[in-house]
Amino acid sequence: MSRVFCDPACVRYHTPGHPESPERVEGARAWLERSGWRLLPPDCQAAAEEVSLAHDPGHLARVRDGSYCDPDTPHYDGIDAFALASASCAVSAARSALAGEPAFSLMRPPGHHAGKARVAGFCYLNSVAIATASLAARSPGIRLGILDIDVHHGDGTQDIVLGLPGVCFASLHQVPLYPGTGLRSVDNCLNFPLPPGTGEAVYLRTLESALAALIDSGAEVLAVSAGFDTYKRDPIAQLKLEKTTYGRVARLISQTGLKRFAVLEGGYAADLPVLIESFLGSFF
Ligand SMILES: [Zn+2]
Repeated sequence: MSRVFCDPACVRYHTPGHPESPERVEGARAWLERSGWRLLPPDCQAAAEEVSLAHDPGHLARVRDGSYCDPDTPHYDGIDAFALASASCAVSAARSALAGEPAFSLMRPPGHHAGKARVAGFCYLNSVAIATASLAARSPGIRLGILDIDVHHGDGTQDIVLGLPGVCFASLHQVPLYPGTGLRSVDNCLNFPLPPGTGEAVYLRTLESALAALIDSGAEVLAVSAGFDTYKRDPIAQLKLEKTTYGRVARLISQTGLKRFAVLEGGYAADLPVLIESFLGSFF
């Protein structure tokens, strides 16, 4: 059974002209429902306790009161609640995966640039890091893999999981590009920088290497930071993947046989709903 978690309230904040727009999730949600997918509300609520598993004390309060400065990541009244709802869907997806049902969180804001004590790159709370940390808290000793396929380096996730025992992080991303990190691997964080113009063939071969490393790490559950800004028509990157690539990416992930869940990160092209559907068709 496919499990796609979405809280429709996540469309209720925006800045005109900002690429991380409500239409991203609204469009994908409508597209999936028209195609017969049934979307589920989160079945748990992430709260300060879960946030503290991944972020420094005081981070959630700074998100709430806006005492941070990142021009890409504006403050909104209630943004802490929106970010918590996004984390709630990620935690719901993680618990579903652990129980043997692959799941996807179709939510905003994204999370993978949010570090231990940092709001950045459209991200406030790191949903994938919170979700994996909550699995580790509930299942001590579990080994976790995090695969980041957003076109941007998952610098916030790396900041949170670097050196954590039982976690292996692998990121495929375009270099040069924001945020300018992830040029080499360090400790349990494996980085696969790719040049602009990388097409499907090289991308999929690199993904196979990343997945092999995650399997070698002993990961039992795989969390995927699923960005779709690797697409050839994405307005803010140049990795040049095709619509059909996303089904192939998801197939390679599902062929690992690992318990798995994915969380929406970036993806700013008008074709985002089609890309997500292509991914989901092979992820479950
Ligand atoms: Zn991105």
